[in-house]
Amino acid sequence: MIQTQDFDSFLVLDFEATCDRPVQLQTQEIIEFPVIKLNGQTFEIESVFQTYVKPSVNPVLTPFCTQLTGIMQETVDNGVPFETALQMFIEWMRAQNLIAPDSYEPLSRFAFITFGNWDLQKMLVDQCNLIGTLPPEFMQSWINLKKSFAKMNNFWPNSLSDAMNALRLPITGRLHSGVDDCENIAAAAKKLAESGHVFKITNKIRVKNSNF
Ligand code: AMP
Ligand code: MG
Ligand code: MG
Repeated sequence: MIQTQDFDSFLVLDFEATCDRPVQLQTQEIIEFPVIKLNGQTFEIESVFQTYVKPSVNPVLTPFCTQLTGIMQETVDNGVPFETALQMFIEWMRAQNLIAPDSYEPLSRFAFITFGNWDLQKMLVDQCNLIGTLPPEFMQSWINLKKSFAKMNNFWPNSLSDAMNALRLPITGRLHSGVDDCENIAAAAKKLAESGHVFKITNKIRVKNSNF
C-alpha cells in the first residue's frame, strides 16, 4: 500500500552539468535538463521532459565529464541554449496543466523531488544568474530525497547507489545520466511512500520574483 500523499504530482529533477576533476570548473553549466512527472498517489510515470543544453562558458566538455555522464560533445553541440531549455520546460509544465497558460500560477499541487539540494539550491540559481534571471517561483522549493530517505532509514545516503542498495532496488540505466538518475530517484521515492513516508517540502530558497 502506498501512503496517501499531499501532492497531485511529483516532478523528479536531476541536472547534469559541465565538470572536471581533480579541480572542479569555476563555472558549472547545465548540460542535461530532465524531469519525470509522477502521479502523486500511484507514483507511476505520467510524462518525461528531457533536453540537452549547450554550455556557453565552457562549450567543450572535459573527457572526465563525458566519462562521468556519458554525454558526448556532439550531444551538447546539438543542444539548445539554457534560456530555450527553461522556456521549453515551462511550456511542458503548461502542457501538463501544472501551471497557468499565461503565468506561473500553480494549477494543482505539485512538488519537485531532487537527490540533494545541489540541483535547485545551487545549480539552477547559478545558471539563471548567468542569463541574468532567477529561477521561476515554482522551482524555489523542493523535496530533498536524501532527507526523506534519512528519516525512514536513520542514515544519510552519500550517493544514489547507496540509497538504492539500502532500499534493495536495482539501479536501472546509467548512473550520472540525468534521465536515468531521475528514473532511479523516482523508484526510490515510490519505495519510501510504500514504507509509509509522507513527502513534505524540505527546502526553499527565498529570492525576489523571477522575471523570466
Ligand atoms: P549526479 O546527478 O550525481 O550525476 O551529478 C550531477 C553533476 O554533478 C554532474 O553532472 C557533474 O557535473 C557533478 N558531479 C557529480 N559527481 C562528480 C564527481 N565525482 N566529480 C566531479 N563532478 C561531479
Ligand atoms: Mg544529481
Ligand atoms: Mg545525475
